[in-house]
Amino acid sequence: MTDLQAGLVAAVSGDQRRVSDGESDRALHAADSSVHRPVRPELVVSPSSTGEVSAVLAVAHAHGVPVTPFGAGSSLEGHVIPVAGGISLDLRGLDRVARVAPDDLTAVVGAGVTRSALAAAAGPHGLFFPVDPGADATLGGMAATNAAGTTTIRYGKMRANVLALEAVLPGGSVIRTGSQAPKTSAGYDLTGLLVGSEGTLAVITELTLRLHGIPEHAAALRASFPTVEAACRVAVAAVGAGVAVTRLELLDHAAVEALNDHLGTGLPVGACLLAEAAGAAGAVGADLGLLRQLAAEEGAVEIVDERDPDARARLWQARHDVTYAMAASAPGRKEWSTDTCVPVSELPGAVAFARAELERLGLRAPILGHVGDGNVHVALFVDPDDADEVGRVAELVDRLVGDALARGGTCTGEHGIGLGKVAALEREHPDLLPLYRGLKHLFDPRGILNPGKVIRLAD
Ligand SMILES: Cc1cc2nc3c(=O)[nH]c(=O)nc-3n(C[C@H](O)[C@H](O)[C@H](O)COP(=O)(O)OP(=O)(O)OC[C@H]3O[C@@H](n4cnc5c(N)ncnc54)[C@H](O)[C@@H]3O)c2cc1C
Repeated sequence: MTDLQAGLVAAVSGDQRRVSDGESDRALHAADSSVHRPVRPELVVSPSSTGEVSAVLAVAHAHGVPVTPFGAGSSLEGHVIPVAGGISLDLRGLDRVARVAPDDLTAVVGAGVTRSALAAAAGPHGLFFPVDPGADATLGGMAATNAAGTTTIRYGKMRANVLALEAVLPGGSVIRTGSQAPKTSAGYDLTGLLVGSEGTLAVITELTLRLHGIPEHAAALRASFPTVEAACRVAVAAVGAGVAVTRLELLDHAAVEALNDHLGTGLPVGACLLAEAAGAAGAVGADLGLLRQLAAEEGAVEIVDERDPDARARLWQARHDVTYAMAASAPGRKEWSTDTCVPVSELPGAVAFARAELERLGLRAPILGHVGDGNVHVALFVDPDDADEVGRVAELVDRLVGDALARGGTCTGEHGIGLGKVAALEREHPDLLPLYRGLKHLFDPRGILNPGKVIRLAD
């Protein structure tokens, strides 16, 4: 055993099984489901408390060994790939829901708690946590990527739902940001900074999260349109009219076909808007009624209310599973999903541009969107060994990022930067790079935390 391994074993309470150099552990921590090439860590270390995370980081810092935090590994831009080797720090052992406080509408959870585990703990209190990325991610990973989901239009992203964090700096010191109060104006917002920092500044060990009451009543509506442009125009009109939806999702005809083929949803082929409203029954009816009217005015070919809770749950489950369905139908291919986000009024133009570019480049891919947030995904599945295809997809991604920026938008609405969007971030915020590098140096002077992600340390 090397000095490093011995130090790490001591850091995890002498439990040798939690410092692994086994082939399968290393392979499981080498990749995500994206197109980025796997790189194996030398070691996988699995702490189970804040104290152990602190001890591991102190050892790694002393040895100058890279550490890449790992939650559920569901991120999509190569975030968890340990490109510089070293340690993959698997945080799933921090899996304790420490407290659900119904009177405060908060929960305190370990970073390794998954969103389904939190749902199970909060549900009996009539509460839920609203951020729902498709995967059963960890709350630590969701905070680190500032994740969003289908309900972001109503409840916001992770940053809006994290009140406080406990985190460990590379040298091992433990910091606590924010407070248990519903709001604070105390000092620089380090909670907001660590949310979205993708494991490059600190390792999050515990989170205080906002919970919300499960609404008394919810209903969904789905509307099918002959063109995706018409569906987008309805989304823009609904947002502009202040229709109080909790979800507003777009599937183009190719995405609908994928759902029908793989999940047997039987939707009419065409572009589809899925919406949900929640609250008092009267208000829900009024909001969905207005949406129905907007959809009819844009020539919807079918508009269906989904009031039955089971049918509604099946509809949203199908929406969440669409990417898995597409992946299953493309064996050997890897996901490369775009994630541009534009002001909602720019949505029809952004989607039309994406469709035109797909056609120009001879590519076929479904377009999905959290359109109430202006967020568009072109879901490509690519053969990483086909240089021509990879080149065309890279060109598409580059063109879509350029288009989003020209429309006042951003290269990523929710997936984050990881490895894949480092150049796009430089393009989006060239003037901020010195500040980003200064922050990175302040938190992580030896550059051991998740190197190669978010920013390049020098030009
Ligand atoms: C089918 C599918 C659908 C998806 N849909 C969405 C969606 O709608 N919205 C969305 O936002 N995302 C979506 N994603 C992406 C993914 O689920 C999110 O990025 C999620 O937040 C990642 O969480 P994780 O626990 O898997 O983190 P990981 O992938 O393990 O890690 C993500 C990043 O966070 C860092 N990290 C992990 N834990 C910690 C910690 N405790 N402290 C510090 N850094 C840490 C890692 O180093 C890495 O940089 C989807 C993914 C899939 C596979």
